[in-house]
Amino acid sequence: MATIFSMIAAGQIPSYKIAEDENYYAFLDINPLAKGHTLVIPKKEVDYIFDLDDATYEGLWAFAKKVAAGIKTAIPCKRVGVAVLGMEVPHAHIHLVPLQKEGDLNFRNKKLSLTPEEFQEIAQKIAAAV
Ligand code: AMP
Repeated sequence: MATIFSMIAAGQIPSYKIAEDENYYAFLDINPLAKGHTLVIPKKEVDYIFDLDDATYEGLWAFAKKVAAGIKTAIPCKRVGVAVLGMEVPHAHIHLVPLQKEGDLNFRNKKLSLTPEEFQEIAQKIAAAV
């Protein structure tokens, strides 16, 4: 059965899309640590990021770099932090999180509760900057 992230990339489940190409897809995390918290996935369905073939793995980071530049332009932040967990969804993904301070990249922090309109506005801003 397809992972939830494959279904998102295929447009079968809605997402706040940031960017896409033939092999990769970026969208807002629905439980964000900060405004602009984005997930970047390969369309290829592999659970553990370090099990990706080299070309897909390297392309994923190159795609994430472009998305991070867009986040940095669109969202006021000091840095865009990076995390790879994969404890919840068995489909490789990179978290990109706008940071004001070190503690902003703590997954035990309370997640933001945003309205659909806020998600949409953030996604549009970042997408326009990627
Ligand atoms: P992890 O697998 O531990 O890296 O966590 C998975 C992340 O995916 C969490 O931060 C969730 O909030 C996020 N997530 C799960 N389902 C969705 C979804 N349908 N749309 C956007 N983000 C999601």
